Amino acid sequence: MSVSLSSDKSVREAYSADASGLHLIPELVARPESVQEVVEVLRQATSDRKAVTCAGAQTSTSGASVTDNGVLLSLRSMDRISAVDEHTRTITVGPGALVGDIKRATAAVGLLFAPDPTSEEESTIGGAIACNASGARTYKYGATRRHVKALKVVMANGETTEFRRNDLEKNTVGYAFAHDPIDWFIGSEGTLGIVVEAELALLPLPHHVVGLAIFFKAEQEALEFVVTTRESPAVAPRCIEYFDNQAIEIARAGAQDGMLPIGAMAMIYVEEEVVDDLESTLGRWGELLDSQASDFEPIVFDGESRLREARKLRHSVPSTMNERGASHRHAGGRKVSTDWAVPYRKVGEAVRTARALATDHGIEQAVIYGHAGNGHPHQNFIARTSRELATIEGVVEQTLKHVLALGGTVAAEHGIGKIKRRWLPLQMNGLQIAMMTAVKRELDPLGILAPGNIL
Ligand SMILES: Cc1cc2nc3c(=O)[nH]c(=O)nc-3n(C[C@H](O)[C@H](O)[C@H](O)COP(=O)(O)OP(=O)(O)OC[C@H]3O[C@@H](n4cnc5c(N)ncnc54)[C@H](O)[C@@H]3O)c2cc1C
Repeated sequence: MSVSLSSDKSVREAYSADASGLHLIPELVARPESVQEVVEVLRQATSDRKAVTCAGAQTSTSGASVTDNGVLLSLRSMDRISAVDEHTRTITVGPGALVGDIKRATAAVGLLFAPDPTSEEESTIGGAIACNASGARTYKYGATRRHVKALKVVMANGETTEFRRNDLEKNTVGYAFAHDPIDWFIGSEGTLGIVVEAELALLPLPHHVVGLAIFFKAEQEALEFVVTTRESPAVAPRCIEYFDNQAIEIARAGAQDGMLPIGAMAMIYVEEEVVDDLESTLGRWGELLDSQASDFEPIVFDGESRLREARKLRHSVPSTMNERGASHRHAGGRKVSTDWAVPYRKVGEAVRTARALATDHGIEQAVIYGHAGNGHPHQNFIARTSRELATIEGVVEQTLKHVLALGGTVAAEHGIGKIKRRWLPLQMNGLQIAMMTAVKRELDPLGILAPGNIL
């Protein structure tokens, strides 16, 4: 085999953690540089009946890209980004390319690769496809799935297969779940095949975007404003993001002095693509805001560099929480991130209950922020000890049951991985799990791909 499998301890340790706080040291590490090398690893693994868990940049928050069972297959070196095809508005990339690099390559020719996970500068397109990653602008553009046209996949037995999304507008042949097999792989967290190449769909790049940070004295006021905004015909945001008071405090540490007002208990951040002129766009937002009696002036982020500044503030929240979580690892603590979602009109009720459940159990250090426009705020906790971790996990489980009663989901963005697997049966019934198991068995009969993820 031309790709070497490393059993070196320091190499194995270098691939033993993702952003979940789980620490699992693989038995072997493979770092292929070509499709052929991936094929060789899978053929060998099939013949040895050895497990293979693939990894991009290991920013997963669910333990999906770490394992102590078999080979950790890092795709990070396969980071080729082809020239953009401006005619078909597509780009073809290797799985290890960073999402941020793809976005820059497409923006250079006036095109947009729309998915925007907050981690875009540190996560790979293979990981984004395998988790069906989303972000703030998913509110307007949808998650990664919508932007994947074709995939080259190395299957568990080492065969390479290409899947291309069909362009049909009508189709009545057979069961809907078999219409577009490409969709089986998007969101499959490395359990059905290894993505070795992707053709991505691009959109025209909007040339003028404005961001607005709007401040509130109370959390519920801000969450009601989310519903008002969604239902207003006057504005057309591409994202509606929420920050609670603790998230504002984290962002304040990285903001210019005096930028974020003192006393604000909640913030909504929106962006809109300017189609007429800035004045009219801001005028429409001004009218919407007039209906809110606010003590605080909104902050306008106009132009690319100001938007980047806003994005940096947004990113500081999850990354600070990750650092805080990691600092308690020695005592068995970690960050516990949730990514439940509810229908957007229920977001106020869901947050109210989530907070009450945490408080009832003496847990005060939760931060809530994120994609409220999609009914999808993140409630992140810091467990300082293993005991606190157990209490928090109990709180999360009760919260998820409430979320499901509101018509929600236990995981809207980061997937199930290993950490959330026990909550899958809360949401999916026996038939749904049996159907997924049947697909898994068909595509990976020996069960060697990413064991422990999802099922
Ligand atoms: C600070 C921070 C912010 C984040 N913000 C967001 C956010 O806004 N939105 C969001 O959706 N997520 C977010 N995440 C989670 C994470 O960044 C995303 O899920 C990301 O898409 C994972 O990419 P990765 O390259 O790190 O994948 P990894 O963590 O390496 O892998 C994730 C999963 O993908 C599988 N996989 C990786 N490559 C392949 C491949 N080539 N073929 C098949 N399977 C593969 C792995 O087996 C694993 O199951 C955030 C994480 C952090 C740390």
